Order: sequence, then structure tokens, then C-alpha cells
Amino acid sequence: MRRKLVAGNWKMHGLKADLGEVRAIAAAVPAEVDSALCVPFTLIAAAVDAAGALPIGAQDVHEAAKGAHTGCISAAMLAEAGATLTLVGHSERRADQGETDAQVKAKAKAAHAAGLEVILCIGETLEERDAGRAEAVVTGQLAASLPEGAAGHWLALAYEPVWAIGTGRTPTEDDVTAIHGAIRARLRELIGEEAEKVRILYGGSVNGANAASLLACGDVDGALVGGASLTADKFVPIIEAAASLSR
Ligand code: PEP
Repeated sequence: MRRKLVAGNWKMHGLKADLGEVRAIAAAVPAEVDSALCVPFTLIAAAVDAAGALPIGAQDVHEAAKGAHTGCISAAMLAEAGATLTLVGHSERRADQGETDAQVKAKAKAAHAAGLEVILCIGETLEERDAGRAEAVVTGQLAASLPEGAAGHWLALAYEPVWAIGTGRTPTEDDVTAIHGAIRARLRELIGEEAEKVRILYGGSVNGANAASLLACGDVDGALVGGASLTADKFVPIIEAAASLSR
């Protein structure tokens, strides 16, 4: 059975004044689940000090090991700062920075080479869903961005419908089960039996009230949480919901 993983994405939020939230979240993670917080680059080292055993991650990584890339951060830099994982391919980066599937794949590969775990994000826009193309888009992104050697001990996927991120809207449980099942099936075609070991997280407006039902859907192995991960008050109930399903 895959252990549930509840990861927080702090996006462009988080100063040292917020480290108390990191401490409170770290103190509340039960043994039955994995959790992690992906914080801004500038907060990684301080968050690692505050977090104890709670893994701290980044939200992006550059695909090159070093070089003339002003303002970018390499995987080795993240590892040296104490990060043990990173997101790649978040839809906000695909939209704001024009990141392509090929780049996302290269980022995942670079992160793995530096010993980081990776959460690779995929998800359709509302227009694509309304056109009946959600499954095709998401499985297409998966095939084009999955790095060689993908394996469950270092890679997780996050299915995040773009229209559900930060909007308070979520897909129905049937839709979540259907698309996670389609992702798992495509993953099986791509990497065979190893697909059973890769966790597929759901992300998009997860909160304390809807976490239990979303996390109970077929092939949902955890959650990637944005807004509701910023405070222990909101994030811990989601972690608890995942733990309850694992008891
Ligand atoms: C996210 O940023 O990955 C996310 C899921 O955000 P939110 O939970 O705020 O919708």
C-alpha cells in the first residue's frame, strides 16, 4: 500500500516570521503519513532548521547544473540549503514562465541527479476540460514530462486541474477517481509495474472540509495543498484526514 503524502506549496508566501507555522506543522505530523513543505528559496535553510524531521522542499529548480542563468537556482544549491525535494511543472510556472514539458522533464532529471525527490505536476485548463480533453491533456503531459528511470522512491505526481487551484472549486469525486485512474494506467504503459509505487497526489482547493473525501478517491495517494498549507490551523486537519484513512 502506498503511504499517503500531504505536501504544502507556500508559493510566494513565507518570511522568517512564519517559521512558527513550520514548527507547529512539523510537530503535528502523525506516523501514518508523509508530509512536506515546499517553501520559497529564501526560506529553505531557515525552514530546515525549524522543521526537524519534516522534509522541506523547493517549488522549482533549474535544469542546468550551473552556468549563466541569472536568478535561477540549481538542484545542488537546493540540496546544500537542506531541501530534500522539489516541485516541478507547477501550472503557475507553466503559465507564468512558459515552461514546457521538455523543460519539466529536464528539471526532474536534474533534481533526481542531485538526490532530491520530485513532485511533478500535471493538469488541464478549464477550456481543455470543457472540450472533453482533460484526460488526453493530462496523460499527454505525463508522457512528455516523465523522466527516464522514474520510480516511486523519488518521484510523485500531482494532478492539479488548473481551474481548481486557488479557486475554491474542486472536481467531483467521480472525476478525480476517473482521471487518477487514467494517469495510473498511462503510467503503467510507460514504466510497467513500477507505476504501482508512484504516488499520485490531488491538488486544487483542498481544505480541511473536503480533504477526507478527496483523499478517499481511487488512486489518490495524497494531496498537494496551496493556500491551506500556510498555517498549521488549516494544514494539520488535512494531514489528519490522510492519517485517518491510513489507520
Ligand atoms: C497549488 O498551488 O498547488 C494548489 C493546489 O493551490 P490551492 O490549494 O490553493 O488550490
